[in-house]
Amino acid sequence: EPDVNNMEKQRALMGLFPRHADIVIIGGGAIGSSIAYWLKEKTSREGIRVIVIEKDMTYSKCSTRLSMGGLSQQFSLPENIQMSLYGAEFLRTLKKRFGHGADVHFTPQGYLVLADEERAQKLIDNNMLQRELGAVNRILTRNQLKSRFPWLNTTDIELGSLGLEREGWFDPWALLTVLRAGAVDLGTQYINGEVVDFTFQLREDFVVEGIEEGSYEALQEVVQLVLNLLNWQSLQKLENRYVCRFECTETPPGINVPMTVDCSGVYFRRDGLGGSFIGGLSPLENSEIAADIYTHQEILPILENRVPAFKSLKIKNSWHGTYENNSFDDNGIVGPHPYYHNLYLATGFSGHGIQQAPAVGRAVAELILDGDFKTIDLTRFGFDRFIVNKP
Ligand SMILES: Cc1cc2nc3c(=O)[nH]c(=O)nc-3n(C[C@H](O)[C@H](O)[C@H](O)COP(=O)(O)OP(=O)(O)OC[C@H]3O[C@@H](n4cnc5c(N)ncnc54)[C@H](O)[C@@H]3O)c2cc1C
Repeated sequence: EPDVNNMEKQRALMGLFPRHADIVIIGGGAIGSSIAYWLKEKTSREGIRVIVIEKDMTYSKCSTRLSMGGLSQQFSLPENIQMSLYGAEFLRTLKKRFGHGADVHFTPQGYLVLADEERAQKLIDNNMLQRELGAVNRILTRNQLKSRFPWLNTTDIELGSLGLEREGWFDPWALLTVLRAGAVDLGTQYINGEVVDFTFQLREDFVVEGIEEGSYEALQEVVQLVLNLLNWQSLQKLENRYVCRFECTETPPGINVPMTVDCSGVYFRRDGLGGSFIGGLSPLENSEIAADIYTHQEILPILENRVPAFKSLKIKNSWHGTYENNSFDDNGIVGPHPYYHNLYLATGFSGHGIQQAPAVGRAVAELILDGDFKTIDLTRFGFDRFIVNKP
């Protein structure tokens, strides 16, 4: 008996280009690999042929590899909250699903999102929604913050929202490895190559109802015109996220320091147990400033103001990673292309794609296989919102 499992793995490793595929996924990062895994998980092993085309098998520059791996439910949209809750559940049951060796080194630690007077009401509203949906977060007043986190400068802070469960950070590379191995084990084939273009063919057996014969091409032109007017390319920007690792030589905030998000957007968390921290900021505009200069100019002054003990910090290293930012409304784009209905999009997850990868993979598999979202309804994240100009 040939070992089918092993043959599939060998084929995947050799990158032989198949003659046929039912579903081709472009990009084998966390999102693409999660989609591949879920497509195969939801069908029998031989049910559908899934191919992932990945241009860089070392993943050296992809967002997943450079990500901080943070997981939090502190969002304002129900869909983002639900996806992150599912992300936490997926990680909790990872070994059950993928075997004992599957480990993403999850560090449980709440997020602390700070708000000044102007942002306080929004923080309360978000917190209520998060708790309604099952997140376990608590609002803390300035005095409560001061007594719980004496190392924090709270002079300009009105409130903080502290996550008490299902938040923390994990190793994104480990998650990608687990998802990829899971997809390959179920029969997905990874191909090393770059997709540079599409050729669309009108299917002869394709019947369009309710539209007069001959007007179909015109319809296509209208949709493309709308897309061009919206200038789709400029909506999806590559944004640099700057990160630095530093050491605090004065008495640092202790082991219980949450992943703290300042009103300015600067954030930090501990990195291990010995006074080492990781912090960063996503610039509003795409920036090409070198990471060390950006760190000193933009990030350090805010860190030093928020935590006086950080005045003694020493930068160990700094880097920036790129992610796709949907500048229209900062949320992911999930669903069918408005004209080519056999083309699905799952992109633009900005700074929260790694924690949402399990939920997005499951949602896209539902859309393709069941024709609709079955668990978390991501209709709001569809491409149509660009056409009707409704973030
Ligand atoms: C510094 C940094 C910190 C972050 N921190 C967090 C965080 O704390 N929490 C969180 O949830 N998210 C975070 N993110 C965001 C998160 O990492 C991304 O949203 C997520 O990894 C996106 O996954 P992806 O698979 O869509 O993209 P990627 O990981 O970039 O994968 C896309 C893949 O597609 C391949 N590809 C592209 N074009 C082609 C083509 N034409 N043909 C073939 N292959 C192609 C690329 O080589 C790449 O491997 C962070 C990102 C960065 C950069």
